[in-house]
Amino acid sequence: MLIDSHCHLDRIDLEPFDGSLDKVMDSARAAGVDHMLCVSISLEEYPTVRGIAERYADVSCSVGVHPGETEGADPTVEDLVSRGRDSLVVAIGETGLDYHYHPEDNEWQRERFRTHIRAAREVGKPLIIHTRDAREDTIRILKEEGADQVRGVMHCFTETWEMAQAALDLGFYISFSGIVTFRNAEELREVARQVPDDRLLVETDSPYLAPVPHRGKGNHPAWVRDVAAKVAEVRGSDLESIAALTTRNYQQLFGAL
Ligand SMILES: [Zn+2]
Ligand SMILES: [Zn+2]
Repeated sequence: MLIDSHCHLDRIDLEPFDGSLDKVMDSARAAGVDHMLCVSISLEEYPTVRGIAERYADVSCSVGVHPGETEGADPTVEDLVSRGRDSLVVAIGETGLDYHYHPEDNEWQRERFRTHIRAAREVGKPLIIHTRDAREDTIRILKEEGADQVRGVMHCFTETWEMAQAALDLGFYISFSGIVTFRNAEELREVARQVPDDRLLVETDSPYLAPVPHRGKGNHPAWVRDVAAKVAEVRGSDLESIAALTTRNYQQLFGAL
């Protein structure tokens, strides 16, 4: 049993699946993927994300506005809390800081990030954190806002071991995507080797970041298997063990399936 801890099912290119999300789900199930967390990136798209979680028993969802999202509404704590109380919603996010795409003018990102942490604390659900080129501010704001009380996951992790340790110290989990399979990701594989067994997660972040040997194609949850296999190889483990422990970790963080 495998769990894709982070995907965007509403954005998957359905063309190779005869236009049918059912077929995407079937291919995931055939690959041994028994559960998926479909992550929200805007309030405008949230109803679609929630609709997918309502339609499929093996999908949960989150509510949040991505730090790179500049089109839609900026959420208030109340916007997130009212949606976050829903039983289909297992987490708040994705949220965080992305200074790669918005290097200047990022006060609004920090405010939006704080809003998400406050909402997560109010509903008592974990956070899904997206962080890029913003290590110090991410950790500082998590601490200042008491994010250790709800914990969460550093999703699609691409940072240093020091950053991973700081997140682990706050009770956070570390999730690896297809990037861990990329040829030039040697340093990241070293981080994947060191994360403790009880804090490890895997994800596709589909439709983005298809793992080797599918690079360049539209990603989908079945391929979390390739991510887990690489993580297993790096850790000198096997796919079954990694599947079992990442499934257990998912349930520890996001609740029973
Ligand atoms: Zn992200
Ligand atoms: Zn994402």
